[in-house]
Amino acid sequence: MPSYEQPIIFLLLFTLAILAQITSTSLIGGSVTVEVSSAVSLATVSLYGPFAAGVVAAGALTTLSIISLHASWSGWPRAIERIGFNVGMGATAMFMAGILFQFTTQWLGSDTMWAQLFPWILAAVINDQVNLWLLIGILHLQSGVKPLEIWHQHKWAVPINVLVMSVGGGLLTIAVRQFNFLGIAVFFLPIVMSAYSFRLYVTRTKRQMEELEELVALRTSDLAQVNKELEELNKDKDAFLAVLTHDMRTPLTSIKGYASILRDQELPREQQVHIMKIILRSQETLLEIVNNILEIEQLQSGTPALMEPSTFDLALLLRSVVESVEAMAMEKKICLQYEQVPSPVMIDADMRKIARVLMNLVSNAIKYTPEEGVVAVKTYTNGRYAIVEVKDNGYGIPADELPHIFERYSRVKGHRHIAVGTGLGLAIVKNLVEAHKGEIRVTSEEDKGSTFTVKLPL
Ligand code: ADP
Repeated sequence: MPSYEQPIIFLLLFTLAILAQITSTSLIGGSVTVEVSSAVSLATVSLYGPFAAGVVAAGALTTLSIISLHASWSGWPRAIERIGFNVGMGATAMFMAGILFQFTTQWLGSDTMWAQLFPWILAAVINDQVNLWLLIGILHLQSGVKPLEIWHQHKWAVPINVLVMSVGGGLLTIAVRQFNFLGIAVFFLPIVMSAYSFRLYVTRTKRQMEELEELVALRTSDLAQVNKELEELNKDKDAFLAVLTHDMRTPLTSIKGYASILRDQELPREQQVHIMKIILRSQETLLEIVNNILEIEQLQSGTPALMEPSTFDLALLLRSVVESVEAMAMEKKICLQYEQVPSPVMIDADMRKIARVLMNLVSNAIKYTPEEGVVAVKTYTNGRYAIVEVKDNGYGIPADELPHIFERYSRVKGHRHIAVGTGLGLAIVKNLVEAHKGEIRVTSEEDKGSTFTVKLPL
């Protein structure tokens, strides 16, 4: 009896077929598996016959099914059903391939090279195709998947499987016949190792593809962000043009009209003074618009506001701001109340910037309050903060527009015909207050009035 017929060699092949499953590689989303243990099964055909080959295939497939179960232990009854099906299918395919192998070997003999090669290739093709068509049949019956669809998915694996199986099986048989135990080590191990490298290569490629996909997703979201920013810039540009065309036009038209009257008509001195005041007021409005645009431009550029801090009395500053807008209030017969505080409210801040904040809030209160209304301002401390309150009983801000009032170019729709403005003042105010680590809040009710409260750290 030739030594390879010893049961120990069969057991060794059986064990190798099981171990070789660690090299099995999933391709095309896991639907195709390339593995070399089928080469061991095929070698078993020529050494021990079709039945023994079926047993080796069953052992190997049981291992493969268990390895690929992963975390789905919870569904074990279904899993056992699946393992049974896979193993039965694989063992049947290998048994059929074995029968055909024996038949063609006897029929063709071993005279020519072709006669020696053909049974291996045929057995490999039969094993692969029986496996595949059994799978196709079951999937079609179970879930109605079209047979050709599965065939197209699996066709890539056919040449690889046939090559690995026939070459591996043939070489292993020669090696065992010639060198016994050593033959397995000399011929089979390199095959297993190359299959393992193939598996590593595929796994690494898959990982690289996943990383690439992640990168593409990241770049896509970056692009979406840039797009959003561009959209916002575009909106800003539209709003800016609206300010230029509408809000600057009104005071310019007024200057032109009144200046022409002064040029063409002989008016009493009193009327001349009145017209000049209107011209000056329009010029101030224009200057404020230009200043706001310049300021927002600087804030948008991301350069932090340059601070020139000094220690000063906020109460005194508020009083001087109130005095500078008294004329504006008087024109509208608005009662401008300034609540005197007993002691100074000393803060460390950039005085010019804080003056700008106060000026904006107080002049807004006058602008958006109808004739004969009341605007009251006061400042006090609560120990940690200096607080300024600017309160009016004017038009107020509708609740749905209140959350956006500090955004650039945001103006209450109903206020556009009431006063000329850019919608930039409050955005600048908020920015300046925050640059001082302070806070600004507003409470408002339509047709009842608004209260703006600024808190600055002491
Ligand atoms: P504007 O140049 O239009 O006055 P602001 O940024 O200073 O720009 O104000 C934005 C908008 O907030 C104003 O257009 C106005 O609709 C509203 N608003 C500001 N202050 C008041 C206030 N005291 N009462 C009612 N509405 C106000």
